[in-house]
Amino acid sequence: MDVASRVPLLRRRFGEAGCDALLVTRLVNIRYLTGFTGSAALLLVRPDELVFVTDGRYRDQSALELGEAGVEARVRVGLSAGTQKEFLQEEAAGVERLGLEASSVSWATLRRYETDWFPDAELVPTEGLVEELRKVKDAGEVARMAAAARIADEALARVRHRLAEGPTEEQFALELDSEMRRGGASAPSFETIVASGPNGAKPHHRPGDRRIGRGELVVVDFGAIVDGYCSDMTRTFCVGEPASATARRMVEVVAESQQAGVDAVRAGAEGKTIDDVCRSVIAEAGWAEAFLHSTGHGVGLEIHEDPRVASTSTDTLVTGHVVTVEPGVYLPEHGGVRIEDTVVVTDEGCTVLTNAPKELVVA
Ligand code: ZN
Ligand code: ZN
Repeated sequence: MDVASRVPLLRRRFGEAGCDALLVTRLVNIRYLTGFTGSAALLLVRPDELVFVTDGRYRDQSALELGEAGVEARVRVGLSAGTQKEFLQEEAAGVERLGLEASSVSWATLRRYETDWFPDAELVPTEGLVEELRKVKDAGEVARMAAAARIADEALARVRHRLAEGPTEEQFALELDSEMRRGGASAPSFETIVASGPNGAKPHHRPGDRRIGRGELVVVDFGAIVDGYCSDMTRTFCVGEPASATARRMVEVVAESQQAGVDAVRAGAEGKTIDDVCRSVIAEAGWAEAFLHSTGHGVGLEIHEDPRVASTSTDTLVTGHVVTVEPGVYLPEHGGVRIEDTVVVTDEGCTVLTNAPKELVVA
């Protein structure tokens, strides 16, 4: 990963954002720009210098991680909030227009910045300056996400057969999570979803003590984190043959929709076009109202990030974007079906990172 090249790219966007310097407060963006993985830091990006402010807990870790990432910054460790404020006041002295990340600064914080921290600067709200850079992944980032996806594939392969033993949803989720940790994941990329029978009709069902029974649909949505980067995959299973012809039909329709979506992904395609492609297959089957969410989202350091694959998306895909394609159909009487892959956009199409078989029936 070429972390050190990111701050210069960010600085180039200051002109259009109307700021002379940017105070980065979103931790995930600080991680992206510096490699720092701790839980407290502020990053002042000035035209001439990068200033990293943290507290005593991260004195050694910040020096180590920034060093490993090859990022040149002045690291200032303030043991109290008051000292950190003084450091930033010193470092931002002379900055006329100080950019803030509008979506991460609370009202209370903004008032404090205005009246106490930076009373002499004009505070400029900015939107998505770092997030825009994060959309396009470099080879190192893709390699981490591919490793995360492989860990999830392998974990599923090891525990899939256990569905037939009639575990509860939460037992099966725990098995998957444990296998991912054993396989090298630092954590699941979000709370694993295992939704069986009627629970499957809730796209983000939280696994509970319901036992998974024969003939019912089970939606399993999960992912792993490797070095901060997430994977995201959904498969739908059935122990034995589905109990109803409708359930079987739901699986066929969602599989067709999902494949059509993946086939439509390439550099130059619009996020909303991919959503259209998936949605129209489901609408033709008469289930337009049962596809309850958008088709997909970007994945990276966060499980949900830009670009969006939705009817309201204004994103055009470019090479290096990593997005999911995950249509679903949710019917309270039959349960749910969702199939999801994480893919890397290329000039000609895409590379699928999540490769677990899509076979429905668990014997
Ligand atoms: Zn998912
Ligand atoms: Zn997803």
